[in-house]
Amino acid sequence: RVELHDVHKAYGTLEVLRGVSLTLEPGSVTVVLGPSGSGKSTLLRVVNHLEKVDRGFVAVDGELVGYRRRGRTLRELTERDVLRQRTRIGFVFQSFNLFPHLTAVENVVEAPVAAQGRPRAEVEAEARELLARVGLADKADARPRQLSGGQQQRVAIARALALRPSVLLFDEPTSALDPELVGEVLDVMKDVARTGTTLLVVTHEIGFAREVADTVVLLDRGVVVEQGPPSQVLDAPRHERTRAFLQKVL
Ligand code: ATP
Ligand code: MG
Repeated sequence: RVELHDVHKAYGTLEVLRGVSLTLEPGSVTVVLGPSGSGKSTLLRVVNHLEKVDRGFVAVDGELVGYRRRGRTLRELTERDVLRQRTRIGFVFQSFNLFPHLTAVENVVEAPVAAQGRPRAEVEAEARELLARVGLADKADARPRQLSGGQQQRVAIARALALRPSVLLFDEPTSALDPELVGEVLDVMKDVARTGTTLLVVTHEIGFAREVADTVVLLDRGVVVEQGPPSQVLDAPRHERTRAFLQKVL
């Protein structure tokens, strides 16, 4: 379970998150929608402590992210402990971010071996299975530049899954792709959702939200304007700002 409680985040005087609270139940899929600049990427980045919260907290499986309690105060974790926590919080970016000099399977193997200390042979076998699952069994030994954008993004998803994360964060995973490649990545995400990984997805793919999300969240100017099942938020929005946003994207 992932909990965000009253999360505030400002860059200088710009308040980007203004008291966001969300709970992601294990195995659930949450899609975050909202206008450009509303704080969606920042919201994902505070979940794995790429950004520090100014107020409130984030907890994954009951463990505070980035901090530990010391009596009544919070102490920031060491970089090493943060990295350990991050291995349970997968992140898939808009821009794939694969290591260009490594093959697909090497990209997937890297973190479980380096960050989790798992034996390379065991991880490699699992990596090949994961690549097969995302439809890339025959591309395991290709390098990123030999792969299409959609294929690279599927490698990135396999890489995130290899860490067996409690939660996977996706920041507009299909928005850098040519339109004909979007579907194959969304299909992989649907498959991942079915296997019970908790997902937090920022996307403008309303069809994906409608079909896969348990909860749709509308973020606007750093606050959750509306959240609920897709049938409510997308088809019967209660708030004017949700209606205005949907009108623009649908
Ligand atoms: P988009 O849909 O365009 O990706 P977003 O909802 O993901 O937008 P964020 O990237 O979270 O929005 O940014 C929210 C606001 O915070 C924006 O006004 C942005 O310019 C600002 N911002 C983001 N990161 C920083 C930073 N590191 N320093 C200063 N301002 C930042
Ligand atoms: Mg963004």
